Amino acid sequence: MLLTGWGDANDNSNVHSKDTLEGGRFLNHPGMVTRFTDAIRTETAQLREWGVEFDTDENGKPVVAKIPGHSYARHLHGRNWNGRDLVLPIKQKAIEAGVRFMEKIFVASLIVTDNQICGVTAISKDGKFVAIETKTVVLATGGFGQVFLNTNNAPGITGDGQALAFQAGAALQDMEFVQFYPTALGRRGSRILLYEQILVQEGVVLRNSGGEDILLKNGFHTSADINRDQLARLIIKEILEDTNSNGPVVMDLTQLSEEKANSFSMLIPSQWFKGTKRFQVAPTTHFCMGGVVVDDNGETSCSGLFAAGEVTAGAHGANRLGGNALAEVFSMGGLVGRAAADKALSLDCIAGFDKVAQKERIFFETLFQGQGGQPKRLIKDLKETMWFNAGVVRDKSSLETAAKTLTDQKDIPVSVLTSSDLIQYLEFRNMRIVAEIICRSAIERNESRGAHFRKDFPEENNEEWQKNIRVHKTDAGMTLERVSVAG
Ligand SMILES: Cc1cc2nc3c(=O)[nH]c(=O)nc-3n(C[C@H](O)[C@H](O)[C@H](O)COP(=O)(O)OP(=O)(O)OC[C@H]3O[C@@H](n4cnc5c(N)ncnc54)[C@H](O)[C@@H]3O)c2cc1C
Repeated sequence: MLLTGWGDANDNSNVHSKDTLEGGRFLNHPGMVTRFTDAIRTETAQLREWGVEFDTDENGKPVVAKIPGHSYARHLHGRNWNGRDLVLPIKQKAIEAGVRFMEKIFVASLIVTDNQICGVTAISKDGKFVAIETKTVVLATGGFGQVFLNTNNAPGITGDGQALAFQAGAALQDMEFVQFYPTALGRRGSRILLYEQILVQEGVVLRNSGGEDILLKNGFHTSADINRDQLARLIIKEILEDTNSNGPVVMDLTQLSEEKANSFSMLIPSQWFKGTKRFQVAPTTHFCMGGVVVDDNGETSCSGLFAAGEVTAGAHGANRLGGNALAEVFSMGGLVGRAAADKALSLDCIAGFDKVAQKERIFFETLFQGQGGQPKRLIKDLKETMWFNAGVVRDKSSLETAAKTLTDQKDIPVSVLTSSDLIQYLEFRNMRIVAEIICRSAIERNESRGAHFRKDFPEENNEEWQKNIRVHKTDAGMTLERVSVAG
């Protein structure tokens, strides 16, 4: 989360916008950036009013930190450095406002008639089919980190929203840009991150298996000089070149003072306090810059279908700065919710919803059959294919290999025996669509920019590629279009 203008009187939303556009290598939608950077101060105040507790000093003032890519100290975190710091008070506020929650339910399809949304179908955890008639829908299903083998995203973050919107006729954009967090704990990059705030501390060093300081070796004097995508590539390079079985890259905290560690105790692995001072780290899939194309109100090209948050494209361009995800989620979430509510008030329900929903139920029933591979197995193959061929470092040949595997997966029969198999199978279908779009977009963009690094085109090419790639569904599958960055 961010609080602009708090850490320095020279800071304001214009400087924040400039930092964001630079970080996104100028592929962001400038209007969207202005909207969320303008709104963030008010939104942060609103969250505090609703009971969100941010970290404060002894005088009760919010503590802000400067993190890479931001010109000033703006980064603000919850009291316990935890998503719950934000989610629980907001949920409580929503309950008080009369919002009804349906938990543990998987949205399986969007019902669209004549390019107008009229409802959704879903499957509950105990296998019940649910049909919900509605005049507008706001997709807020997050990113698609689970499409890759190594990720710190939660298990349900499988790109369902992007795939459902695409199937409903909405365009996707910037899908080649996936952010890999450079320093996740563990040899394969677990869900636990060793944050930039630790790396910038005095005495903290990233070392390869030969003990060399990786940053110095590559000409960086301080970790504040390097952004997430550059660092992820340096670490992956060391991992790929490593022949030492002791573990390729470690974050060495032996020189970190007890005092500093105590002041960051929420971020430092608890083993540090028991004497372990060196931690293996590796990149992990963290955030998706690409997603559904929306207009100024957050509406997609499918009438009544809105989207907000990580499921959308536009705010972050080719790469996202730390803290900007939540800044955008909270600013745009309110705006899009209000627009969707206003539109719903102006519309009538479309006739025939029940009939289409029942057709969908019958279709899901036809998917139950015992011949073929396990959905779990197909998902594992897909995730490995994406990690090893379309991950931190890619080239035309690896991306084509991945695209071919994904095309072949389309025809593999799948055994669906239980409702949990059905949900996994539907997730797999969504992941396959999203993965194919990532690969096709990444093949098309024959340059390197932001989080997208092509080994065979390592330079940024502004002459040809100051453009977004937009993907549309067609009868033949999909078409890719290069579009000028929105004004
Ligand atoms: C470990 C970690 C640390 C992070 N730290 C920061 C940070 O410090 N600052 C920052 O700005 N950003 C941070 N981010 C990024 C930020 O948390 C996300 O971008 C943000 O939470 C996205 O919010 P969202 O509302 O769009 O989606 P999410 O918060 O991802 O929520 C999406 C929800 O939709 C549900 N869903 C998905 N598909 C379906 C379906 N088919 N049916 C029903 N439900 C579905 C999911 O289960 C999930 O509950 C972090 C991310 C991670 C993973």
